[in-house]
Amino acid sequence: MNDSAGVVDPNTPSIARVYDYLLGGKDNYPVDQKIGDHFKVDLPGSVAIAFGNRQALVRGVRDIARSGVKQFIDLGSGLPTADNVHQIAARYTDDAKVVYVDNDPIVLAHGRTLLATDDRTTVVQADVREPEKIRNSAEVRRLIDFDRPVAMVFSAILHHLNDDEDPRGLVSYWCDQIPSGSEVFISHFRSGGNSETEAAEQKLQSTFGRGRWRTDDEIRELFGDLELLEPGIVPAVLWRPDTPGESDTPIKNIGTAERELTVWDQLISAGLARKS
Ligand code: SAM
Repeated sequence: MNDSAGVVDPNTPSIARVYDYLLGGKDNYPVDQKIGDHFKVDLPGSVAIAFGNRQALVRGVRDIARSGVKQFIDLGSGLPTADNVHQIAARYTDDAKVVYVDNDPIVLAHGRTLLATDDRTTVVQADVREPEKIRNSAEVRRLIDFDRPVAMVFSAILHHLNDDEDPRGLVSYWCDQIPSGSEVFISHFRSGGNSETEAAEQKLQSTFGRGRWRTDDEIRELFGDLELLEPGIVPAVLWRPDTPGESDTPIKNIGTAERELTVWDQLISAGLARKS
């Protein structure tokens, strides 16, 4: 795993680059494509899961911005893709501020290129398991006003933390930092108690040394005592789905408004909560 500072290692698979490959991106190497191809065979819905997740994130940021929250911290943000948090937010609010955080150096490298001209958006290379470092980083202090509502985005990141890395404690740390009116978005691999999820969990563990599929109840616990907003924790494609033709994201639309729910759609859940 590329979790040390600085250098992109093209010989070791990276979560960010494998995910980029599944989304059809170009910022990946043969070593990542090999793992991605494995997922496509062992878990034929991998591409659908990645797109379903990304689309739910787009709708989540849309609704957060519509509710008036203008500051976003996107933890485990991934490589820039077709539609990123600051671009989504900009469609619904004119002065959003966004901090992207990822521990993969390739995210920093590509993020800087994308964001070079934007002083309301930044990328911090850091490990989400060290939240205080992130909270106290110069970039977070410069851009985020913790006296005003903040959206914490945990999109497809907490399932990369094992139980002993305390993902619940991590969410709780940030909930203590943000004021009333703030919102927390989580999407997370959803354990279906079936052979597909078991095989996928094993693959994540053997490749990256971490990866945990959780039930909806376990995902609910990650939100602590926050108020969960409608429709609760549901498969990502069912989280406030667009009606056909409604979507304005460049991310490929695979919403269930247009087709039946598949077994793969049920392998990732999403939820949004508010701090009262
Ligand atoms: N959030 C994006 C999304 O939902 O489309 C990307 C999700 S991608 C599956 C997971 C991202 O989390 C990768 O970019 C990976 O580098 C990052 N990541 C994994 N473990 C991390 C850690 N401990 N600290 C920071 N980032 C991490």
